Amino acid sequence: MKSAKIASPGCTRTAVYNVDNAELRESAARLFPGGVNSPVRSFRSVGGAPVPIVRGEAAYLYDADGSRYIDYIGAFGPLILGHANPRVVAAIQRAAREGTAFGALTPGEVELGQEIVRATGLERIRFVNSGTEATMTAIRLARAATGRDIVVKFDGCYHGHSDGLLVKAGSGVATLGLSDSAGVPEGIASLTAVLPYNDPAALEGWFARRGSETAAVIVESIAANMGLVPPSPDFLAALQSVPRAHGALLIADEVITGFRLRYGLCGTLPEADLVCLGKIIGGGLPVGAFGGRASLMELIAPQGPVYQAGTLSGNPLVMAAGIAMLGALSDGSAYKRAEDLAVHLENGLAAAIRRANASASVIRCGSMLTLFFRPTPPADYAQARESDTAAFGRFHRAMIERRVMLPPSQFETWFVSAAHTEPDVDRTVRAAHEALALAVQA
Ligand code: PMP
Repeated sequence: MKSAKIASPGCTRTAVYNVDNAELRESAARLFPGGVNSPVRSFRSVGGAPVPIVRGEAAYLYDADGSRYIDYIGAFGPLILGHANPRVVAAIQRAAREGTAFGALTPGEVELGQEIVRATGLERIRFVNSGTEATMTAIRLARAATGRDIVVKFDGCYHGHSDGLLVKAGSGVATLGLSDSAGVPEGIASLTAVLPYNDPAALEGWFARRGSETAAVIVESIAANMGLVPPSPDFLAALQSVPRAHGALLIADEVITGFRLRYGLCGTLPEADLVCLGKIIGGGLPVGAFGGRASLMELIAPQGPVYQAGTLSGNPLVMAAGIAMLGALSDGSAYKRAEDLAVHLENGLAAAIRRANASASVIRCGSMLTLFFRPTPPADYAQARESDTAAFGRFHRAMIERRVMLPPSQFETWFVSAAHTEPDVDRTVRAAHEALALAVQA
């Protein structure tokens, strides 16, 4: 039995755990492949040991040894209000007292559904349990609607782990250097065409050759799984005109960007036929959703012939968390606060890069950013991959030692929340200055 002092500003709590970091890692290694339940959490690509987390509060994470970290993982996107937001937690507790799952229509689904439809302009949506389910089903729907089989995705964009989308994907796949996954039959992979991101000519060329066989183009509204790489205006214009001209659908993957940059969709692809959501709309509980115009969505079962189902879809705890989250975001002030802090962080990192004379650059969109270990910001995945990932690993380990928790991969995005403070950011920048010096020295 070990006890750990957990200090937060102005108070101290003593938590007692049965295990410490090392024991948890050892037990997990005997239970789970790679010791984790999702690959990036293993910290393999940064060469460190995974940090088991026992508690989160506002911008902070606490490990089982009692260390406190300033967190920029933000659970990989959902926690724009920080950890254990009181309003979200209270809503989950209230909902849990009424029962955790019913396998029936519930008022929470209607309330969250109405709010998402109002804020996004989507006519119909369906709730699922993950971003993976949302994109997988959106593609099934697009194939049914067009009677075509081929789906176009972009090199380095990640859309979850369904078979057909694990082709040249970013995120954990990029981290592990896998261009494909074993176990995906060639027949399935061959129905996914992969084009370079931010290359309108490649998109036009594809549609000139194979447009009549192509059901849909799926793209992240802002790529955030090759590190953060925004789309160029001419790429966005081509995405919205070229598939449509050939009778194909455009699927905007807003699993990260939906309700992250502003209240509703992020705005880069207003002409998308189908939109996938996740992360923030579930307030940190497992969620996904996809939606679009009624005529398309009515192809989904039981209204139409495209099958999709889920035992826990629209779960009352998840809906309650989502309603509370959107309620806290709807006046827009949290977006401004998180973005102001991210600008402060971006400026501080840029100064630290200059002072350390490091070959690095920063890209920021709203409250998201990535520090790339390459001298100029990348425009696509090929350029992102040129980053010095060994230097990123050294940087990451040095930041952990300074109690700053960054996403454990060069190819993930840092998330600033409205719960961070200026002193948190200043401490992060000071740590980054030292860590950059160490990362580039080696
Ligand atoms: N799409 C995007 C853009 C994502 O970033 C992710 C996950 N990070 C997914 C889809 C898959 O979501 P999930 O992990 O909830 O299945």
